[in-house]
Amino acid sequence: MVQKDLPLPPNKRPTIGVLSNWLGDEFPSTILKGIINEAKAGSVNILCFLGRQPKHPEQYAINANVIYDLPGPESVDGLIVLSNHLSHYCADSVVELCNRHRSLPVVSLGQHIDGTISVVVDNEIGSCKAVSHLINEHGLRRIAYAKGPENQLEARDRYRGYVRALAENGLELDPSLVVPGGFNYERAEETVRVLLDERKVEFDAIVAANDLLAAGLIDELQARDIKIPDDVAIIGFDDIDIAVTRTPPLATVMQPIAMLGVEGVRLLLAKINGEPVPDRVVLPTRLITRRSCGCLSSWAAHTKRPTSVQDSTLPIDLSGAWPDAVLEEFQSVVKSRFIRLFKDWPSHLLTSFVEAVQEDNPDHFLAVLTYLLNEIVLQHGDISEWQSIISVIRWSVLPRFPDTFLRERAEDLLHQARILISDSVYRIRVGLEILNVQRISLLRQLIFNLASTIDFQKQLQVLVSKLPQLGIRYGYLALFEDKDPYAERANLVMALTPEQTFIARDGGRSFPTRQIIPPQFRQSEGCTMCTVQLIYYQNEYIGLLVLELDYELRVAYEMIRAVTSAVIKSGWLYQELQSYSHDLESAVREATLELIQSKEQAESILNNSPDAILLLDKEAKINTVNLTCTEVFGYSVEELLGEHPRVLMSEGVEIDLVDNLGQLADSLAPRRFEIIARHKDGGLFDAEVALSPVVDASGFLGAVCTIRDISALKDLERMKDALLSTAAHEFRTPLTTILGFSEILRTRDLTENRRQRYVDFIYRQSTHLSSLVNNLLDVARIQAGRGLVITPRPVDIEPIIKSVVTTYQEISAVHTFRLNNLVPLPEVMGDPLRLDQVMRNLVSNAIKYSPDGGCVTISATTQNGTLEVSVHDEGIGMTAEQQSHLFERFYRADHSNTAVAGAGLGLTICKQIVEKHGGRIWAESEPGKGSTFTFSIPTVHHA
Ligand code: ADP
Repeated sequence: MVQKDLPLPPNKRPTIGVLSNWLGDEFPSTILKGIINEAKAGSVNILCFLGRQPKHPEQYAINANVIYDLPGPESVDGLIVLSNHLSHYCADSVVELCNRHRSLPVVSLGQHIDGTISVVVDNEIGSCKAVSHLINEHGLRRIAYAKGPENQLEARDRYRGYVRALAENGLELDPSLVVPGGFNYERAEETVRVLLDERKVEFDAIVAANDLLAAGLIDELQARDIKIPDDVAIIGFDDIDIAVTRTPPLATVMQPIAMLGVEGVRLLLAKINGEPVPDRVVLPTRLITRRSCGCLSSWAAHTKRPTSVQDSTLPIDLSGAWPDAVLEEFQSVVKSRFIRLFKDWPSHLLTSFVEAVQEDNPDHFLAVLTYLLNEIVLQHGDISEWQSIISVIRWSVLPRFPDTFLRERAEDLLHQARILISDSVYRIRVGLEILNVQRISLLRQLIFNLASTIDFQKQLQVLVSKLPQLGIRYGYLALFEDKDPYAERANLVMALTPEQTFIARDGGRSFPTRQIIPPQFRQSEGCTMCTVQLIYYQNEYIGLLVLELDYELRVAYEMIRAVTSAVIKSGWLYQELQSYSHDLESAVREATLELIQSKEQAESILNNSPDAILLLDKEAKINTVNLTCTEVFGYSVEELLGEHPRVLMSEGVEIDLVDNLGQLADSLAPRRFEIIARHKDGGLFDAEVALSPVVDASGFLGAVCTIRDISALKDLERMKDALLSTAAHEFRTPLTTILGFSEILRTRDLTENRRQRYVDFIYRQSTHLSSLVNNLLDVARIQAGRGLVITPRPVDIEPIIKSVVTTYQEISAVHTFRLNNLVPLPEVMGDPLRLDQVMRNLVSNAIKYSPDGGCVTISATTQNGTLEVSVHDEGIGMTAEQQSHLFERFYRADHSNTAVAGAGLGLTICKQIVEKHGGRIWAESEPGKGSTFTFSIPTVHHA
């Protein structure tokens, strides 16, 4: 759900955006010090957008400087850009950056940029002063210059100051004394190597483009046993803390770094308020002489009255004003001019001092001094420089006390003041150290706690509970929509203010990204001072982290940002990994299930196949077989695995198989051929083999071998062949007879008796032919699956039997017929014509297959509701093997030429008819001893 954005509350305080890089560096942090102090004094909100220096060589995969694009009219009223520091690697990018924000008033600090209000430092004059000091005060002539980065504007100005000083003092520029360089400490080694080892030039001083480089030069030269300042004098530029910590202390050109910040805020506010503002403000620099240039330390320098201030022994008149020259000296001694102290503090201090001496009551003076020192500490100033203030009081006031007694008391008081200052310096330093240790420990806790959970909600909990312990009272975390920092909306997932904390349970509260902090969560009391940082990880933008800005925590912000980014990302990664592994698990489960199912399906297809299926490997060894294979061949699976399929073939066939396997591997074309297969028990049968190659990308893997039992088919084929010849024979005999007799009838004049006999012949042969045709039609019907048509009704079978016997009695002279137990027989449910057909077949066979004659006995019995009719002969009989095929189509026990004529169809039809009546038919026989064919059909009451 998109939330309706609240309108911005009437903006009582202006908000200034500051674009800076890491605050750990002394330069931007000192500017920030000035900005914070001035903003607090003017009740201004600060949003400090922290990124990196454009074109930084360690630029990560992502552009972290996207953060500089985020401030706009929705979040700030104007911008301060720390141009000199941001332009360290690329001056043009900063110009571009300022141009991008043309819709806002922009102040550029340290570098002049057209279209902005630029606050710059007089680099050229400062540098010129340093070189002139070496020439004029120390009489040095061969002064080398260690340059800053070539394309840095300030570095160029400083070098110009060097050139100018030489010219103004009538010295020639010696190019061998100028070394290209950079602004960093490490650069000094190369500078010294170039001057001493490469160019082998002589020089008595080096002026460096900044303090870091100068500090490096001191260390590098001293490492080569060159004494500073006796052999070589050194002067730096900037006056950062590193300058005073060197041994000897580094003389330098002080640029009012904090004042840049102060001026920046003042000018920007004026611009925002519509006041006239100059395009460019130049801040003066000041030479700070210290031991490295050959001078005494600056404190010692202030112990003497400067020649510019006139000596005065006039008695002190507390009702009058202090001389301006003295008051100015106070201001000039105090480096931390960005610090706001109460008005007229120098005269107030002087007056309290004089009164303390006169009244012999040091308390008030020491209280004023303590108050001032505290103020400076609160505003992050340097109180050690206040030793110089004491020196100024000493030379400006002491001579004016009327007697030695008061002067001695004054000396005592100044001594106390010095002890107070040193003591404060010591306490502050130790206090700071303790505080720093505490902060580091709290930071450690925060990082440790953050890193110990991968749950996003818990990470947010850690932030809201640990940030206040660190001194950060308010903070916000918002996630970009679609991980796009330029997306219109972001989602606030955490807000911490002294009044409320908010942690989103769902996707967060949507708000316009450009507002940086949703209005309803903004600080209502006091100024808002925040750092705004990009949360990103490698090539992914995550969101914005906004934290209360505390100067003392300046080095912590980048760390908190980096850790927050890493833990959020790792939490997300873990979640992704979990859901991925969950998906993977269910995918594997499904795939396994499918696999099992398809394996089962494949197995069931294989096992239910009527054919034997074998999987052969590359070497033609049996790998897998289906159940049918074990059934067809009588081997168990175990017996077949690893064997060559030749075990399943009759000897001699295997050569054919090996050939085919070989050709299959070569051509990869499926093959089909017939073999004689061999059952485990030695029985042979006709089989058809189909070989299909199994291939993958690597080539031939083996073959699928399908073996089909085609013995039935083969038998059928054989029988059909037999039928053809038999049928031809069967048809020819009666046809020849019919043709012969009808020819005689047509052409000859015959006696009536003879003619009648011939007609009878023709009639009998036609009847035989007709029954033959009928038999063939019946078989064709059976084969077509249509079966025979039976029209059952109660039938007395006795007359049928008798009629059949009568017919065959007439035909055969060599057979006798006997009827057993025929009366009385129960009626059966049957089709009389079909039953007649059965009887006729059985009796005709009995006659046919007892060519030597004999008795044909027909008996009938009833038992258990069925009528059994048997036809027994005394003929050739049959073997058991012959009996097992009797009822198959076209089967003939003997189909040689000498065999009794027949088509092998009669019994097949009989079986069909009997079974259609719900009965059975079977035969009992022995070779040479005759046969008995019996059929049974249900009687009427049991049908
Ligand atoms: P067909 O007699 O026309 O050849 P059938 O189906 O009637 O055809 O008989 C099939 C085979 O059964 C015969 O060829 C014969 O070998 C055998 N057979 C049938 N009846 C007898 C029998 N009574 N005695 C011996 N063999 C018989």
